[in-house]
Amino acid sequence: MGLVAGRKHITRGLRFTLTMGYTIVFTILLLGISLVFRQRLASSLDDQAHVDLNRNSTIVRGNLRLYHAPEEKYGYQPDWFLDPHDPEENRIKADVQNVEIVADANGNVLEESKAYQSLGADSVAHIRSVLNSNQPVWLERRDPKGVLYLIRQFWVESDDHKKFFVAIGLSLAHNQALLTQFTWVILGLIPLVILTGGLTGWVFAGRALSPVIEIAQAAQRITGSKLSLRIPSRGAGDELDYLIETFNQMIERLEINFNQVRQFSTDVSHELRTPITIIRGQLEVALFTAQTAEQYRDAIVNSLSDIERLSQIVRALLLLSQAETGQVALQKQSLDLVELTSETADQFQIPAEGADLKLTFSANCNKCLGYFDRVQIERMLSNLLSNAIKFTPAGGRVEVSLKREGNDAEIQVKDSGQGISPEHLPHIFDRFYRVRSSDSPEQGLGLGLSFVAWIARAHGGSVDVQSELGKGTTFRIALPLHASSGPEIAQESPSELMKQV
Ligand code: ADP
Repeated sequence: MGLVAGRKHITRGLRFTLTMGYTIVFTILLLGISLVFRQRLASSLDDQAHVDLNRNSTIVRGNLRLYHAPEEKYGYQPDWFLDPHDPEENRIKADVQNVEIVADANGNVLEESKAYQSLGADSVAHIRSVLNSNQPVWLERRDPKGVLYLIRQFWVESDDHKKFFVAIGLSLAHNQALLTQFTWVILGLIPLVILTGGLTGWVFAGRALSPVIEIAQAAQRITGSKLSLRIPSRGAGDELDYLIETFNQMIERLEINFNQVRQFSTDVSHELRTPITIIRGQLEVALFTAQTAEQYRDAIVNSLSDIERLSQIVRALLLLSQAETGQVALQKQSLDLVELTSETADQFQIPAEGADLKLTFSANCNKCLGYFDRVQIERMLSNLLSNAIKFTPAGGRVEVSLKREGNDAEIQVKDSGQGISPEHLPHIFDRFYRVRSSDSPEQGLGLGLSFVAWIARAHGGSVDVQSELGKGTTFRIALPLHASSGPEIAQESPSELMKQV
C-alpha cells in the first residue's frame, strides 16, 4: 500500500514539475512578447502623432498669413490662404484649428482654440524662448479631463517680418485608448492561453509518463522467484522502449546470475554432503563395531583422507571465488610461451605413456614472448592435459600445439578421446560440472576447467572448446603476447592451492 502511494506521489510530482516548468516558461515568453508588442505599438502611434503634427505645421507655415491690421486690437490679423470651397483643405484647417494658438511676442493671443485654452496659458518667457529658437518645441499636456495632448510650438513670420508664436496640438486620447484596449486584450488572453497551455501540457505529460507507471508495475511483479518475467515492449521504438529493453537485459543478466548462484549452492551442498556422509558412516561403524586399535586407526585414516578431500573442495572454491572477484593478483613476468608449453607437455610424457597414449608438441615459432604468471599458465595447461589423458582411451593421441598469429598466441590441446556431447559442451566451464556416464573414468571435482577459463581471462585471453562424441575434444586458448601490464605482485600466491585441483 505504502509502495503504491509512494509511486503515485512520485509520478504526480514529475507530471506536475513538467507541466509547471512548461507553463512558467510559456508565461514568461508570452509576457515578454506582449510587452515588446505593446512597446512597438506605443512608439509607432507616437511616431504617427509626430508625423501628423509636422505635416500640420507645414500647412500652417504655408497657409497662415499674418498681416498688419491697425484696426485690430494688437495690430495684426491672422488669415488662412485656403480654398473655402475645397472640402479637403477645409478639413485640414479645421483639424489644425482644433488645437491651436497664435500669439505675438508679448503673449497677446491673436487666435486660440478652446481646446488649447483648456491646456493652460504659455508664459511670455516661454513664448519668447520659442521665438528665439530655430527648433520646434514638443510638449505633452493634459486638459482638465485628463486627456493627453501632443503639442508642437514654433514661429511664423508676418508680412512685415515679425515673429509670431504658433502652437498646434493633437489629442492622444485615441492612441491611449488603443494602448489600453491592447493591454486589456492581452491581460484577458494571457490567463486563457496559459490555462489552455497548462492543461494541454498536463494531458501530454500524463500520456508521456503513463508507460513509466506500467513499467514500474511490471517491474514490481518481477521478484526473485519470478525472474523469467519480462516487461513487454510497446513497439514504439522510443526512449521508453529503449529503457524497457535495457531493463529486460538487466533482468536477464540477473536471472543468469541468480541461477548460477542457486546451482552453485546446490552443487556445493551436494559436494560437501557426500564426504561428510562417508566420514560419518565410517566413524559410526568404527564406534559400534571396531574392537582393536588397528580397526580404530583404519577408520581414522579413511576419515582423514575424506576430510582432506573436503578441505580440498573448500580451498579450491575459496580460491576460485577470490579469483573471480579479482582478489587474486597475478605475478606476471616476461616469459616465452613456447618454452613454458613444451616443458609442461614434457611433464605429462610419463603419465601419457602409462596410459598408452602418444603425446606430441609442436610450435610454429621459436619464441612467443608475453607477460604471464608462470605457475598459473602451467596449471592451466596441466588441467587441460590431465583431462585429455584421463578422457582418452589407450592407443589414442594427445597433441599440444602453439601458433603465433600477430600479437596473439593460440595454444591447442587436442585429444582423440571420448569427446563431450553437445548438451554438455556449453556447461563444462561451470563450477562442479562433470559429465556423468557409466564409462567415464574417475570423476574429479569439476573445477579444473573453471580455473582454466579464469586463468585465460586473467591474462586477457579466452578459451573455447570443440568436441565430437567418440572422436575427440580440442581446447583452444588465445593469449595476448606483449601484454601491456607489467609484473604484478601477488598478495597470496594461488599456486599451492591450485596444484591440488
Ligand atoms: P574434472 O575435475 O571433473 O575433470 P573439469 O572441470 O576439468 O573437471 O572438467 C569438467 C568435465 O568436462 C569433466 O568431468 C569431463 O566430463 C569433461 N571434460 C573435460 N575435458 C575433457 C576431455 N578432454 N575429453 C572429454 N571430456 C572432458
